[in-house]
Amino acid sequence: MSRASGFAWVVILVFDPGIERVIDRAINVGRHSNTETAERGKRGQESENSGERDLLGARHMAWTRQPYTVPDVGDPNEQLLVNDELRHFYEQAHILSMASFPVFTKDALYATITFCGSEQHAFDETEMGFLGSLVAQAGPTMRAFKLNRELRETDQRLRAVFTNAPVFITVFEPDGTIVLLEGADKGTIAQETASLVGSRIYDLVRGSFAEELRANLERGLAGDSFTADMQWDGRDFQTRFAPLRDHDGSATGVIGVTTDESERLRATRELQRMNIDLTAAMERAEASAREAEASRLRAEYLAQHDALTGVLSRRAWFEMAASRHPTAIAVFDVDRFKRVNDQYGHPAGDTVLKTVAESLGAAIGEDGVIGRLGGEEFGALFNVSVADAERACQRAVELVAARPCGLSEGRVVSVTISAGLAPCRRASDNTKDAVARAYDIADKALYEAKNTGRDRLVTAHAAA
Ligand code: GH3
Ligand code: MG
Ligand code: MG
Repeated sequence: MSRASGFAWVVILVFDPGIERVIDRAINVGRHSNTETAERGKRGQESENSGERDLLGARHMAWTRQPYTVPDVGDPNEQLLVNDELRHFYEQAHILSMASFPVFTKDALYATITFCGSEQHAFDETEMGFLGSLVAQAGPTMRAFKLNRELRETDQRLRAVFTNAPVFITVFEPDGTIVLLEGADKGTIAQETASLVGSRIYDLVRGSFAEELRANLERGLAGDSFTADMQWDGRDFQTRFAPLRDHDGSATGVIGVTTDESERLRATRELQRMNIDLTAAMERAEASAREAEASRLRAEYLAQHDALTGVLSRRAWFEMAASRHPTAIAVFDVDRFKRVNDQYGHPAGDTVLKTVAESLGAAIGEDGVIGRLGGEEFGALFNVSVADAERACQRAVELVAARPCGLSEGRVVSVTISAGLAPCRRASDNTKDAVARAYDIADKALYEAKNTGRDRLVTAHAAA
């Protein structure tokens, strides 16, 4: 001990894990305290390149795992740790010999302890053993120091996380005492959160919220980690609860990590409401589009069909004739219809017209398309052979005659029709003209049927 205290300096250097820099430095100046050199040494200003020497020596010892001695810093052969500039510094500091010892934590060099003597000194084995054991004693203290520093750093990092997290973190003791309340969002629950730390939560909140919280804390204390939604002060919170455990695994408290979900939920609800409105508007738009389409179809139907009988209107019938290339065209006219009107009245005449149209439809069926050409005159466009068209016209004449028309008050009237049929040439030039010619011929045939007794069909076989 007496020997150790005879050293002029004892220097403890702590390195980073890569031995790239000195992260801590402690100097015990023995004999030469209060000298300017000693003061500079304390400040780490020993010399320009002493830092390099420190790192070089540390790496050397990390590699050899042996202490390193310099019996005489003035020895020109001593090249590893001492250069000319340092020699000057050592002279000023009255340092002539040094013994450096490595301190390992696990397998990494953590620090070096250097004893500096003010005289030339060949370190013998006994002395190195003594100094080595001194260093060995310092080892655990330094390891504790290192652990403490790491803990401090970890604590600071954790606190930084707590303080800046977009949540708030609450730690409860088993009786509900708040021991920590941190986080960027803590302002959402109180302006002055500092006063809440140390209070029991059950003294601060009441009612169903307190009951809910108590149930959640008890569940956490029982060892459960879970997420719970809670409402407080008109806001929606979501909290992740987890037990805090002792080293033996028993729960000593509960940590709650809470996010304020109010804004998100409000936005979600708003979005849902907008979605509902939008859906309703779309449904309304779709409904009115459907209505518009229906009324367009109705208007189109009305434009193309005769309102009384439901068969094609004159215009639609002639348009179809021009576009469909009919094989034959027939014209029908109710016989002596004026008399029906005169005898039973105009409405009865309408009923008769409807019945006649139905009979025409039933007789002709799929063979042709019927239109009302005006008054009590109908036409048929055929898409079958002229012979089939003739048979269909014949059926029509017979059916109208055979089917009495029921009028109001149980009255019944029977009518007949006359018909003219003409084949329609498949014109290579103009269908419209061919239709007009065939219509003309059919009309003449109808005139002939009228003149030859009515209630009959005349077919003009020689088509124009
Ligand atoms: P014909 O055998 O020579 O054809 O004799 P007709 O009496 O049928 O001849 P005319 O062409 O003189 O008479 C047709 C009548 O049809 C005249 C008109 O009052 C009637 N009429 C025309 N359109 C309608 C209608 O929509 N409803 C009713 N009830 N009568 C109509
Ligand atoms: Mg007539
Ligand atoms: Mg007529």
